[in-house]
Amino acid sequence: MAGCDRGEFFAWPPISDVLEHYGIPAVRTGGRWVPFRCPLPSHPGEDKRPSAAYRPDKSYFNCFVCGERGSGLTFIRLMEGLSDWKAAEAYWASVSGESRTGSTAGVTAASADPFADWG
Ligand SMILES: [Zn+2]
Repeated sequence: MAGCDRGEFFAWPPISDVLEHYGIPAVRTGGRWVPFRCPLPSHPGEDKRPSAAYRPDKSYFNCFVCGERGSGLTFIRLMEGLSDWKAAEAYWASVSGESRTGSTAGVTAASADPFADWG
């Protein structure tokens, strides 16, 4: 299925940077998952309480309500209504001045199945 495109699981850009770009406050609880209010277009209604969370260490997110999940690129793609992660990558490069090439030193992509340890 389309959602399995592993290109979307690159660790770059960090999901925390992406959320900051969209002005989304995240509450660091000290746990592995950092909760935030899901702003995605597919999300039903407005979050009264954080229904999504992200993993800063692996740079991916998961929304418990609308079911969207993925990396920073996935988040950008959904927010901007882009067709794929490459378009999201181009978008991020244009707004941040960063490109994935050269920024991934020391950063490892999430595993092929980054949700294996979910829950
Ligand atoms: Zn959501």
